[in-house]
Amino acid sequence: PQPGTPLLSVQHAVKQFGGLRAVGDVSFELRAGEILGLIGPNGAGKSTMFNLITGVNPATSGRVSFLGQDISRRSAGHIHRLGLSRTFQHVKVLPDLTLLENTMMGGYARGRAGIIRSMLHLERREEAALQHEALRQLARVGLGDQAFAPAGGLALGQQRILEIARALVADPALLLLDEPAAGLRYGEKMELVALLRRLRDEGVTILLVEHDMELVMTLVDRLVVMNYGEKLAEGTPQQVQGNADVREAYLGV
Ligand code: ADP
Ligand code: MG
Repeated sequence: PQPGTPLLSVQHAVKQFGGLRAVGDVSFELRAGEILGLIGPNGAGKSTMFNLITGVNPATSGRVSFLGQDISRRSAGHIHRLGLSRTFQHVKVLPDLTLLENTMMGGYARGRAGIIRSMLHLERREEAALQHEALRQLARVGLGDQAFAPAGGLALGQQRILEIARALVADPALLLLDEPAAGLRYGEKMELVALLRRLRDEGVTILLVEHDMELVMTLVDRLVVMNYGEKLAEGTPQQVQGNADVREAYLGV
């Protein structure tokens, strides 16, 4: 998609868990080529929003479209095959597998069958192509020299970067990252910021949920701020930082 064209559109999204409205009538758009930050205090509904976009836990009502298609009722696998990859809030690296094997996992899901079936029935030629692509993505994120080491030996910051490599193997048009900097040391955060900037410049569109304000403000092009399931504000980091509602509700000043 051309930079600036709408890639993802969330319209009047609602997610109800029994009596709790975790997301209440939230609308926003994400344009190709940008990094959009989704921020808000704990419990604001950010992960719920991710889950309804990715089909993990669909919206109660409202509409999500991706590349012009309505994906509101599509399965997670279908949405992934359309070109939307994600990482999770909690690290999901398999410690006993190598970095290469972990990265290859991101490609199996793009096949027609489930992961396990795909792994068993993958043609040797497809397997070689997937391995080649996984090595390429590991090199892209700076982990190429450790491809054959077990993932469990990596520091947390590198595990998060490995998860990004795994998401990139599917060649996504849109990458969703749920708190990728959580628990990282300062140096690791700076490496992550540099990587995400580079990916954005290479044409990957990114939706980023992040708690670390400083990191968000330096990295994103635009922000959507949520609070108690509602959209509180939207705009550039400068606009959002100057917004009185945001300062009161989120920054506490
Ligand atoms: P955030 O990611 O912004 O911290 P969440 O989206 O995880 O917030 O949670 C938003 C609200 O929805 C919270 O009150 C949370 O307890 C609730 N919630 C999240 N997932 C579920 C679920 N599967 N069942 C019931 N309540 C949930
Ligand atoms: Mg969350």
